[in-house]
Amino acid sequence: MSRVAIQPNADWHCETAAQATRRFIRACERWGVTGTSLIHPLPDSEGRPISMDVGFFGEPSASRLLVVVSGMHGVESLPGAAIQVGWIESGGAELLPRDTAVLMVHQANPWGCAYRRRFNEDNIDLNRNFLDFSLPLPLNDRYPAIHDQLKPGTRLGDFGERSGDFLGELVSGEGIDSVIDLLMAGQHQFPRGFGYGGQEAAWSNRSLAQLMATYSPGRERVCYLEIHSGLGPYGYGQLISLQLGSTLERTRRWFGQWVFNPRADKQPGEAGYREVPGHSTDGFIGFFPGAEVTPVTLEMGTYPPGASLALLLEEHVLYCAGDNAPTGKLDALRALIQEYHFPVDPDWRVANWCRGWQVIQQAMRGLTHD
Ligand SMILES: [Zn+2]
Repeated sequence: MSRVAIQPNADWHCETAAQATRRFIRACERWGVTGTSLIHPLPDSEGRPISMDVGFFGEPSASRLLVVVSGMHGVESLPGAAIQVGWIESGGAELLPRDTAVLMVHQANPWGCAYRRRFNEDNIDLNRNFLDFSLPLPLNDRYPAIHDQLKPGTRLGDFGERSGDFLGELVSGEGIDSVIDLLMAGQHQFPRGFGYGGQEAAWSNRSLAQLMATYSPGRERVCYLEIHSGLGPYGYGQLISLQLGSTLERTRRWFGQWVFNPRADKQPGEAGYREVPGHSTDGFIGFFPGAEVTPVTLEMGTYPPGASLALLLEEHVLYCAGDNAPTGKLDALRALIQEYHFPVDPDWRVANWCRGWQVIQQAMRGLTHD
């Protein structure tokens, strides 16, 4: 257990992706780390370049490595970015055990971060994109039946304003778990559809593969921590694992028996069971051939899932409407969606930062003592 006293009320949070990028790069520089920036092919809405930024802390040849990733779902990036900057600026690197290093990957989905979208520049949910694309793609056989309804001028309203009613009807018919499966399981058939997983590796997936190829040689034990928000009880940081067998056992030894695993804790067909094909935690295992990899996702809970999902559907309809959408409506909605993933409430933010710090320390202990 580290004896460093962190400051719970220190505020490492930024309000925009551009501010967060500047703060992350400045923090790396202040702690003597020259980061790497992978520039995204598209600019932000003000024409500025956007990037996935990386900082490496510790001995370059360390055999043990913790990789911390923020912003895989763009609109969820700011809580994760605050944990990364807080760890750096609190002197986390000075606490690194021998032969252990940390790689911070800031804004893995730079376009989604800049535009406050869950999805990327190609409408892809990156957590459904880490697949072997030489194999047949997973089939979400329920999605095609509702695809045509998730468009402007349908039951969801001219521009998605009746998304809440639509979702309410679905939920009252088949229950929230079934509806979450239908919409969030991912689909690979409709590039302009909801929850699209892509038909090839997305820019972020390719960039992460390229980055990890440079950081993987010599690593024997790797912990991969991906930070998300918006799922689970308000202010509670739930750890989720998708791996089975000895990897799941190790994850629970390191992070506690309450680590939730939707593939192991539920049976196929049971409410709450999720297969989640193409998840990045599966993809990361492949980036470190020969190493023991322990992937885990931190989900900082905010508001109830039904409300959040209705907003995501409304945003999807407006996205489909493109230039036909009423001026300002999409921006206003994305601001609300940001609140649903990154509450302005300072107490939520304290919980976020402290939980993030705690999970990083748990990962360190697991990497070095297990
Ligand atoms: Zn997420």
